[in-house]
Amino acid sequence: MSTYERLVNSQNFFSPYLTQEDLSRFGRDYIGVGEYMEQIFPLLGVRLISVNDNYDSSNYNGTTLGMDLVVSNLVNTMYCRDAGKKLRTANRVKWRKGISTASAAPFGYQFDPNRKGSYIIDPPAAKIVRRIFDLAILGLGTREIAMALNDENAPVPSVYNREHKAYGKETTYTIAPVILWDSSRVWKILTAYVYTGAMVLGKSQRLISGKKIIRIVPKGQQYITEGTHEAIVSREEFEKAQLVIRNNGHRVVMGSVDFPLKGKIRCGNCRRVLGYDYKQASPIFWCREGMELIGQTQCSSEIYQASDIENAVFQALKKNFLYWTHSIVILKRKNRA
Ligand SMILES: [Zn+2]
Repeated sequence: MSTYERLVNSQNFFSPYLTQEDLSRFGRDYIGVGEYMEQIFPLLGVRLISVNDNYDSSNYNGTTLGMDLVVSNLVNTMYCRDAGKKLRTANRVKWRKGISTASAAPFGYQFDPNRKGSYIIDPPAAKIVRRIFDLAILGLGTREIAMALNDENAPVPSVYNREHKAYGKETTYTIAPVILWDSSRVWKILTAYVYTGAMVLGKSQRLISGKKIIRIVPKGQQYITEGTHEAIVSREEFEKAQLVIRNNGHRVVMGSVDFPLKGKIRCGNCRRVLGYDYKQASPIFWCREGMELIGQTQCSSEIYQASDIENAVFQALKKNFLYWTHSIVILKRKNRA
């Protein structure tokens, strides 16, 4: 048995100890790891032991980390970033050749089993994509298209993928009995150049490797290869559809403003992040689907004052915080006993 295994075996499950073989097991981000070691664990009364780094938090009570540990955390971070960079370089080579490195093909396509990283038509889904473009070319707006698709019972991509057990593709968990098309889902299809038979790669970039912060790469810097797979719409039809949605004034509310509850407030029915309008005298939240698909959806079309929601969140946090401080007191008492 290794020192680590012996240490783990010697521990009581309920003891407020955390042991790690070395600190890279605990986390790769040196700022995050440092914060846990210097502030969060001491506050919660957790003792952290890292065998290979020869670290035991009880030797460091109230002091900052030693230089060797800071360096060790930093090296772990660098290693992770380096691996991320290498992967992106390897991917770029493939993107230049029009080979997809995505884990799933876009809606309407599936991966070609004979040619790695290229697409073939997925007939039932492609039919829906084609229908969306046809309606747009007829002059219908994104919301009208969405309502037409719902009337025709056309499944949204995530539902279609789940029903067809499409491995790696987007699926949704929701308590809503039905998931409906809405203008943003339609918009996503109508603006995807991939349907003209071109491969569009390198669309987003992770800003810091290992973190979820993603930047959308501007169109000019994406990797576009024409004619890599069968088109669902022609270039002309695609351009026509762009004109229609531009004239219909579809507003894309993307994360341009920051606010404390960004991405956290969801609709109880469709489970999607609520729309947020900060330009009102007092900011409001609402469910896009509830607002847009009146008569089709079970989502509420109610408008919620941001201040009401913020207040409810604050009360819930306060309750949780009291619970935690209470638990810490009990833990500390147990430790002393
Ligand atoms: Zn909803």
